[in-house]
Amino acid sequence: MKKLKYYFLSVVFISTSIFAQNQEKVKPQGHTDQNKFRQMKDVLPTPSNTRTASGAPGHEYTQQKVDYVMDIRLDESKNQIFGNEKITYHNNSKDYLEYLWIQLDQNMRAKDSKTPDVKSDNFNGAFNGPASFAKANLKKRFDGGFNIEEVKNSDGSDLSFMVNRTMMRINLPKALAPGDTFKFQIKWWYNVNNHIIEGGRSGYEAFPEGNNTYVIAQFYPRLCVYDNVEGWQNMQFWGRSEFALEFGDFDVKLTVPADHKLEATGVLQNEKDVLTKQQLKRFEQAKKSFKDPVFIVTQEEAEKAEKERSTKTKTWHFKANNVRDFAFATSRKFLWDAMAVDINGRSVMAISLYSKEGNPLWEEHSTRVVANTLEEYSKLTFDYPYNKAVSVHAQMGMEYPMICFNYGRPNPDGTYSERLKRGMIGVITHEVGHNFFPMIVNSDERQWTWMDEGLNSFVETLAELDYDPNFFTGNLPKDMVTYMGGDQSYISPIMSQGDYVHQFGPNAYAKPAAGLYMLRHTIMGPELFDYAFRTYSKRWMFKHPTPADFFRTMEDASAMDLDWFWRGWFYTTDYTDIGVKQVKSYYLTDKPTDKAKEVAKLNNLNLDDYKGKLVYYGEAEEGKIPENAKNVSDFPAINDYLNSLSDEEKKVQITDAEAPKYFYEVTFEKPGGLVMPIILELTYADGTKERKTYPAQIWRYNEHEVKKLFRTQKAITNIMVDPDLETADVDVSNNSWPKKVKQSDFDQFKDKVKG
Ligand SMILES: [Zn+2]
Repeated sequence: MKKLKYYFLSVVFISTSIFAQNQEKVKPQGHTDQNKFRQMKDVLPTPSNTRTASGAPGHEYTQQKVDYVMDIRLDESKNQIFGNEKITYHNNSKDYLEYLWIQLDQNMRAKDSKTPDVKSDNFNGAFNGPASFAKANLKKRFDGGFNIEEVKNSDGSDLSFMVNRTMMRINLPKALAPGDTFKFQIKWWYNVNNHIIEGGRSGYEAFPEGNNTYVIAQFYPRLCVYDNVEGWQNMQFWGRSEFALEFGDFDVKLTVPADHKLEATGVLQNEKDVLTKQQLKRFEQAKKSFKDPVFIVTQEEAEKAEKERSTKTKTWHFKANNVRDFAFATSRKFLWDAMAVDINGRSVMAISLYSKEGNPLWEEHSTRVVANTLEEYSKLTFDYPYNKAVSVHAQMGMEYPMICFNYGRPNPDGTYSERLKRGMIGVITHEVGHNFFPMIVNSDERQWTWMDEGLNSFVETLAELDYDPNFFTGNLPKDMVTYMGGDQSYISPIMSQGDYVHQFGPNAYAKPAAGLYMLRHTIMGPELFDYAFRTYSKRWMFKHPTPADFFRTMEDASAMDLDWFWRGWFYTTDYTDIGVKQVKSYYLTDKPTDKAKEVAKLNNLNLDDYKGKLVYYGEAEEGKIPENAKNVSDFPAINDYLNSLSDEEKKVQITDAEAPKYFYEVTFEKPGGLVMPIILELTYADGTKERKTYPAQIWRYNEHEVKKLFRTQKAITNIMVDPDLETADVDVSNNSWPKKVKQSDFDQFKDKVKG
């Protein structure tokens, strides 16, 4: 994998100029094969019995398993979380392990964290408002990070360990043999950050009346992934590139103030201890309500709870099997609603937790959007396997198994813009969608952001367009034009590690999503694409796929060679630009043209000797339809020829009624570095239109220029490349013939004045 990284770097450095790809017109002969259709043997890892050439897990595929039993306590008055964590590590690999690596994500907020140190700072401006000044210059550094109190072996003895920033190595007393398990225990606590002030994907929000809402994640030391791809995935957490986690079973007890409402990953084990009789009854109603959410806690009840403060605690007990992570949300402020969703005959709960500040938006939309997302994603991937999906109102967007945190806060008077509503629907769809990628199709987020964000944004786009065909997703090929056609020094290939890319959003979310949309819509078609995409999703459910597994499965299940697409769209920063360079139009005429006379003279022929025996081609002036164009039937010689054919030969001849009258030799140019299908719209003189699509392989022999001849009965008046903007073509000024004359500024001004 290391080799790959250098390859990316060189791509970035070579194409530092947007014009770089335009200059590589002449290729030296006899050098390395640079053909755009060469197979990806040089960049994909060699297939093995763990990851097969078909893209499926092989018969020797293994993955580790990590089970957690945790006792967690929230101290609301001090905003601290305490944990006692018993871990059982199952070594399913064929390797002996000398140590275990553990992620201490909270250490990113420690006082000695290097995360702020690697940010480039600058002092700008001559003056500032007091608030901005104070925020920039007077803010104390937060005292976060894990305080590790104990790391003990199952026999109670201390284990030796070493902390390297956000990673902790536990030195095993003796190497852990293949097939063996290791049990140990960690005791810890940390100061919870206010995520509004300090930022982050977890923390609390403080409200003026003195209550907090807590959305808590990355809150416990979590095992790193060990596999045959990265060894230990112990790349530091800088705050951006997310997580790589093993599956396991969780048994978690959460102790919080007794008046809190709480949701978490997993199935609640002690409903009767923590819910009132009325709440239990309402949950039973919700399980039967497939159309509308049912309140478990109403706004009136939540507002009443806000005014009180229990000094007692309650312990909520959850169990979750086969999850890669655990998160929870708790507050006395929460309203709570739920409804049932039918996933292919199995009932799943869609649930929301939100403070009154989220209303009226949240009670109207959140749970319904959760339900819609589970339905839509299940159609495109696999049936949602967990028992619930929870959406929690917080000023962020972040995902965990069965639970996610989403923004969407109306103004204090309850009004909200259409934009906010769309944003909220979008973020809930996206974060609930993450249950599929990467919570179940468990890719390595630390290394490959696009494998979860890109795939998820793609399915999210389809779900949103299904919800509303006019929904602005920002993830369609045409939305990529500004990014892909922009300054190359700020663009990285999708196949880059997320911590060093510029323009993270377009790189890891929108461009991969747009690419998959293009594959489905334009290159493969939904039937082939959906089967292959579903195959990938099912093959890698509850497993750890890599990019090669995705690329290979998509080809394996569809019989489409897509190496050119992966190579161009995912491994380079090239862009699409295809245009019409030249159109030569010809027509049939029975009179010798000047050109015919010229050719005859050169060959010492007398055209009079061939009277009635030759077919002449006239060359039409650009944009003009020749009035004297003849039909095939106007040439007795052609008829004589056709009549002379045997019956068998006649079968392959075009009948007179369909015979062409006009001929267009069209030269397509490709200044862009990407190869793409040529999608054409031809407009005829009578106003009718025709579409033609040529596969990307049209560029196999010459990637700069190709020609196509159109033989038509009706004159062509217009040729347009990529009429529906399906290929992210960055420059459409060369897409039509005759060239669209750009309106001059003066004409635009005149139009404006005219009103
Ligand atoms: Zn995401």
